[in-house]
Amino acid sequence: MPEPLIYLDHNATTPLDPRVLNAMLPYLRDAFANASSPHAAGRAVARAVDVAREQVASAIGADPREIVWTSGATEANNLAIRGAAASPAYRGRSRIVTVATEHPAVLEPCHALALQGYEVVTLGVDVDGMIDLEGLQEAVTPETLLVSVMFANNETGVLQPISEIGALCQDRSVLFHTDATQAFGREGIDVNRAHIDLLSVSAHKAYGPKGSGALFVRRKGPRARIEPMLLGGGHERGMRSGTLNVPGIVGLGVAAGLAAEGVETGRVRTRTLRDDLERRLEVRFPGLMLNGHRTNRLANTLNATLPGIPAQRVAECALGLAVSSSAACTSAKRLPSYVLRAMGLSEEAIRSSLRFSLGRFTTQAEIECVADRLADAIADAASEAPACDPDPF
Ligand code: PMP
Repeated sequence: MPEPLIYLDHNATTPLDPRVLNAMLPYLRDAFANASSPHAAGRAVARAVDVAREQVASAIGADPREIVWTSGATEANNLAIRGAAASPAYRGRSRIVTVATEHPAVLEPCHALALQGYEVVTLGVDVDGMIDLEGLQEAVTPETLLVSVMFANNETGVLQPISEIGALCQDRSVLFHTDATQAFGREGIDVNRAHIDLLSVSAHKAYGPKGSGALFVRRKGPRARIEPMLLGGGHERGMRSGTLNVPGIVGLGVAAGLAAEGVETGRVRTRTLRDDLERRLEVRFPGLMLNGHRTNRLANTLNATLPGIPAQRVAECALGLAVSSSAACTSAKRLPSYVLRAMGLSEEAIRSSLRFSLGRFTTQAEIECVADRLADAIADAASEAPACDPDPF
């Protein structure tokens, strides 16, 4: 009998919370009507969408009318960045400021805009993965249309100074977008206090279903203007056409409600487990080096270099342990981490780095087994034992 899997890859995706699944089931079975249909069945489903809109809005301090449903954070980021660039409201402004450690779902739209003639400034980060606010200040010129800086990094968990960035952007009347995919449900988010104009979230990083997300689009103070990327029936007040994914939206709503209730307790609980894991790994693997800021970091994330280990092979070989060698979730290409490279790690250190990301259902008993399972995987990788079953599910 193989040991049950210890899943420490919550930054790639989270399991569905059973409460989310239960809330979704009626909308996968009987309540299948189109939320835009005028009949009673359609109106009932539309009411469920309204509830979800309130739940997501309230989790980030927004107004329900500021939530646009999307298929996930990739789409939300594309809509925010390409939608703002295409808006006639910002015509004449051609500079976009972002950061080298952003997710590809931000970097690639920025790259595409650069090919169209936009001036994209990509800021670097320090050894801890933090941006330099003075550098940002210098980069934001009167021609700047948008600043896009992620709330929390998916590989290292590093938290950027979002409120300071928001205040700076507000001062200069520049749109501020943040990819909050990893922070949603893990950190308190208040779009007004942090002066955020556009914010992306994804359900599947917060115990909701895959293929469901949202973009917050500020309505006033001032209003953020974006052009739609998907044209069609004019859903979502014209900002995103397409029949609503009602089960996904209901799931995101319930996930947001659960997350908002438990941010502080979740943070304390996962931080305790994460710090315990770090201590145990330090004892077992001397020379371990933490990657990313020690305190400005998501409570659930531990990215560390274990000198000399072939991290990718170890992650592939580990039996009963799901960890990540870089950002399996960010790239289908499995390239060495550009995030760690931007922080100044050597290629050798990058190849020996693993990401452990804990979640709501991680237990102390699991944490106590990780070092052993990792040591076995390292031994298997070194002995060139045949790679373990590549498809554990
Ligand atoms: N941004 C970040 C920071 C992420 O971690 C991810 C998921 N890996 C995404 C965007 C993309 O989200 P989705 O899977 O919902 O498209």
